[in-house]
This record gives sequence, C-alpha cells and structure tokens, in this order.
Amino acid sequence: MTGPVFALRDVSVAYGKIEAVRRVSLEIAAGSIVTVIGANGAGKTTLLNAAMGILPCTGEILFEGRSLRTESIEERVADGISLVAEKRELFATMPVEDNLRLGAYTRPRGERTKDALEQVYTLFPRLKERRRQAAGTLSGGERQMLAMGRALMAKPKVLMLDEPSLGLAPRIVKEILHLVAELRTTGVAILLVEQNARAALRIADYGYVMETGAVTLHGPAATLANDPRVIESYLGFAECAA
Ligand code: ATP
Repeated sequence: MTGPVFALRDVSVAYGKIEAVRRVSLEIAAGSIVTVIGANGAGKTTLLNAAMGILPCTGEILFEGRSLRTESIEERVADGISLVAEKRELFATMPVEDNLRLGAYTRPRGERTKDALEQVYTLFPRLKERRRQAAGTLSGGERQMLAMGRALMAKPKVLMLDEPSLGLAPRIVKEILHLVAELRTTGVAILLVEQNARAALRIADYGYVMETGAVTLHGPAATLANDPRVIESYLGFAECAA
C-alpha cells in the first residue's frame, strides 16, 4: 500500500486535568523507523499507550488509513499492532522458547508458529542458544531481545518500542539498536521511543522531538541530528551512551 501504515492525528491524552500529550501528529511508513525523542516526562510512554488503546485519547489513530477509534487493545493486536513496554514483562520461570510461543497466540489457529520462531531465531541467534533457559535468568540485553522477539512472533505490521535501551550498558544499547535497525528488513513499521536520542537518530529514518506533551520539532533523522537545538538539548551529553 502507499501512504503511512500507522498515523496519529492531533492525539491528546489527559490524566485528570493534566494534559500529558497535546495534539501530537505523526506517521510511519512500512519498513521504516520513526523515533520520538524527549526528556523524562515529555509524554512519550503516554503517547504509545494511547496508540495501543491502553489509555483513552482524543484525535485519530489510523491503521492502514482506517480509524481505530472503536477498537479495543485486543483488536489492535489482532490487526498487527504490537507494543514492547518499558518493563519488558516476561514469564520469568518459563523457558525462552515458551515465552516466544506465547507471542504467537493472536495468529490464526493452525498457522505454523515454527516459521515465526525460525525468523525470530535468525534475527536473534542469542535467543536460540538460550531457548531452554528460564527467561528470568537472562541478562538485561537478552531480556530486551526476548521482549522484541515475542512481539515479532505475532508478525506485527506496526511495532512500538518503549525505551529498548533503558538500563542497559552502552555496548548492549548499541547491539539492541543495531537489531532494531535490522528489523526494518522484515517490512514492519517501527515507532521507537527513546531517551538515548543520539542512538535513536542514528538508526531512524525520521524523528519527532517531544517537550512537555507536544511535538516541538520533527524532520528526517539526519537533519535533526545536526540541528543545533537538538544538539544542545539532547545530544551534547550523550557521547558515551551511543
Ligand atoms: P519517561 O522517559 O520518564 O518514561 P515519558 O516521556 O515517557 O517519560 P510519560 O511517562 O508519558 O513521559 O509521562 C508524561 C507526563 O504524564 C509526566 O508528567 C508524568 O508525570 C505524567 N503521568 C504519567 N503517568 C501518569 C498517571 N498514571 N497519572 C498521572 N500522571 C501521569
């Protein structure tokens, strides 16, 4: 299809009287990475939760041009929209492979999960090596790989990632974001929320800057990375983290 696979139009979200997200519009094409960067509390997680249907919002969320206004979270998952939350909730006592298989539960009955599993193992060979290990014993980086792998088992068309680099050592951040960049080849549209602006802009095609709930700047990722306002506010300090 032409046009964006996923789009937000004038989306606002309030917690009581506090408007955490204000009239945010963005769009993502298939096979591309769009990043939303911003400081703590800018409203990034709130935006993803609204896009997933976890939080109510005003404005429009469009999937393949169709409004999701009346769709529940489950229906959005069935459409092919997936969110990997910051907390990376996994079943700690279950082996890696069982965690992955659970990710395929939305696929039509009878469809072979084996193919999806092989695809995930090709993208994340480390998970294959550890497929019989309990998820709770994985390192932070491996847990993030498992959370992403589990989301991919549903063969999503839109994958939203909330701070995949959170709490990881710089070397692992690099590895995880390299893997996110590789996911582009599967054709999925990726919405990447990151505080690590430098690393995010390096792999993204397009970026949005959020400040106190609103988008203040957007443009091609390479342009944003060279914008003095972005450099001063988000890139100046982050050399060691990228
Ligand atoms: P971080 O990078 O720290 O996760 P963020 O950009 O994802 O930040 P949000 O978590 O979306 O920001 O928070 C946006 C604003 O909404 C913040 O001011 C936060 O305090 C507020 N907020 C978040 N969750 C709630 C809630 N459940 N009730 C009230 N206010 C909330």
